[in-house]
Amino acid sequence: MRDRTGRPSRVDPGAVGQGLSPALPPTGPEGTLPPSGSVIPEAAWRRALDLIGKADEIALACHVSPDGDALGSMLATGSVLRALGKRVIASFGDRHFAVPRLLRFLPGQDLLVPPADVPAEPELMITFDSSTPDRLGLLGANTAKAHEVIVIDHHLSNTGFGTLSLIDPHVAATAVLAEQLIYRLGGSLDRDIATCLYAGLVTDTGSFRYSSTTPEVHQMAARLVATGLHTDEIARELWDRSPFGYLKVLAAALDRVSLEDHLVWTYVPRVDRAAYGLPYTELEGLIDIVRRTDEAEVAAVLKEDDHGAWQVSTRSKGAVDVGSICAELGGGGHHNAAGFTSHGSVEDTMAAFRALLANADGEA
Ligand code: 5GP
Ligand code: MN
Repeated sequence: MRDRTGRPSRVDPGAVGQGLSPALPPTGPEGTLPPSGSVIPEAAWRRALDLIGKADEIALACHVSPDGDALGSMLATGSVLRALGKRVIASFGDRHFAVPRLLRFLPGQDLLVPPADVPAEPELMITFDSSTPDRLGLLGANTAKAHEVIVIDHHLSNTGFGTLSLIDPHVAATAVLAEQLIYRLGGSLDRDIATCLYAGLVTDTGSFRYSSTTPEVHQMAARLVATGLHTDEIARELWDRSPFGYLKVLAAALDRVSLEDHLVWTYVPRVDRAAYGLPYTELEGLIDIVRRTDEAEVAAVLKEDDHGAWQVSTRSKGAVDVGSICAELGGGGHHNAAGFTSHGSVEDTMAAFRALLANADGEA
């Protein structure tokens, strides 16, 4: 972040956070903001600090079936806001409210309340990693009635549904924007908060493998790791452990995988999971196995949730914009990683997906 003279701009803690300084200095001269690559105007950050400064109680929400970026960004921000003296609650709008097992190691979960305990008309709501009100599930209604809504997100498809947008599709993760907000608030970046932000950063960059992994991403990772967090333990929690039943469900899913032209796909009916008591959220990593197929450009995994709806994860290697295809099917996401929900059968869902894929192929 530089002003017109090329000098790093000063941190402006605004009305809140005065007297609190980061536990670790940012990378530049003291008092400068760390680089993020974000293009969000300073006026928008100032307005966010103003809204936060005026609010006594702040309700935080992230998308349903939260991933590391959604929950990590929300808990990190929530912990800082609480340290600044705000009353903070955090939630996500799943009908069955439970933190996915692989994210239970994230610190700050005492901030969480079930969606029913979120005020119907919050004074200030802040949403994380949600591109549409639909993605907030049950909390979409609270967001619609909130007096002010700050939307923090990095999805190109974000509809700008808040009263203030802190949206930047150029950054790798919502966690990048959460860190920027934390610095501007003058909050402390301790190990627990850094763990939450790091979970977001590694989740959304695929462990620093995706093209979104810029120098600023590595610089942010360095700041976070410098707090003393345990990268090995975080990696194991996120990717390298699962209940035994996962292997059985995985085996069945791989057994029914299909390769059709440039599309590789499979599905997991809920009966497969029920046999092992495996929650739906344990299947997040399945798409990463399926998408490795050399012969395929696009990968899809259909996962039946506990209510009989199919949650579809899609991935592209770059030539096809699965974000647009999923948006046409009522979902959304990014160019190379997107999803949607289907209430039809596997056959009908795939027929609709294939038709749009054929169109996209024709245009490519
Ligand atoms: P995943 O396949 O890992 O669940 O999601 C990949 C990307 O697509 C994420 O950025 C996620 O937020 C987005 N995404 C997944 N499902 C949906 C959906 O139903 N609606 C929207 N708008 N985005 C989705
Ligand atoms: Mn994200």
